[in-house]
Amino acid sequence: METNQQTSITDPIKTKDLDLNFVAEIKQQSGVNISRCLHCRCCAGGCHFHMATDYPPNHIIRLVQLGFRKEALESSTIWLCVGCNTCSVQCPMAIDMAAVMDALRQTAIKEGAALAEPDILNFHKDVLHTIKRHGRTHKLEIMMRYKARKLDLFSDFVVGTKMFAKRKLHFRPSKVKAIDEVRKTFKP
Ligand code: SF4
Ligand code: SF4
Repeated sequence: METNQQTSITDPIKTKDLDLNFVAEIKQQSGVNISRCLHCRCCAGGCHFHMATDYPPNHIIRLVQLGFRKEALESSTIWLCVGCNTCSVQCPMAIDMAAVMDALRQTAIKEGAALAEPDILNFHKDVLHTIKRHGRTHKLEIMMRYKARKLDLFSDFVVGTKMFAKRKLHFRPSKVKAIDEVRKTFKP
């Protein structure tokens, strides 16, 4: 199996290490019948993030189909995928890749898998935190929380000032009126 970076699948495959129920589990969780994948690679060709990931999206599908649970759940691809669905609109079998990646992310968190991109999980949490507080995102707060956690407040200072100048960042959050309705969508 080709990958952009060195794959962790370097040893001979031992069938006892494969989880043959994994595909059914991800199908059920994502609502996507990934057995329909033809491995035509259209998704890999269309993904803007392919060059940064360890596996192209069709390889993630293949890992799940074959039961490579650990490799799929510890892959950087599942975290670098932004769910843009560019691949899905090009897929001849209409595989909803974003839903598959989401199911894999949730499974990885639930199982305490070694996350390849823990910073991205923290960023997701910061986004959700501002939605819970204000009913919608507040970009400045998200960035400040994220950078404070990393103890790196100033590395993007110049970019930040440019974003302020272009009114892409705002000091004050904009709140929705029905904030309680938004908060009900979060687990207590
Ligand atoms: S485009 Fe669709 S069918 Fe082709 S490899 Fe990707 S997921 Fe599979
Ligand atoms: S949904 Fe994910 S895998 Fe598909 S093109 Fe977008 S980033 Fe790439």
